Amino acid sequence: MMEKKGHHLRIDVYSAKERSIEELAWCAFCQEVKPLFWKDGKLFCYEMKFYPKRSRLVVIESCIASMPAYNKSVRVEGSANIPSAVLPVVKASAVAEKILEQTLNLLEEQKPSKSKGKPLP
Ligand SMILES: [Zn+2]
Repeated sequence: MMEKKGHHLRIDVYSAKERSIEELAWCAFCQEVKPLFWKDGKLFCYEMKFYPKRSRLVVIESCIASMPAYNKSVRVEGSANIPSAVLPVVKASAVAEKILEQTLNLLEEQKPSKSKGKPLP
């Protein structure tokens, strides 16, 4: 196994969800995730915990939405007592790319052709 410098980081994505851009922006806004990431027509955000001692990055939840063209921001429409906001979108970093890859794999695994989704916890 080849190991390049700076690639010792272990990434684990535990949960992945497919959402609309609006839902994703809202989720990121509520969790104060900034910025959002974009790559290859996908907009995504994730909530993670980093364990520097173990060089481990745990993604608790990753959200992904289809956004064909890159846009440098997404707007969150506020509601009654929440003002609207604009969230920045950046092109995915190397780490974000890996998270996206795992998110897509996870979503693929979650697609059960046999049963219609798992019951909510
Ligand atoms: Zn989210």
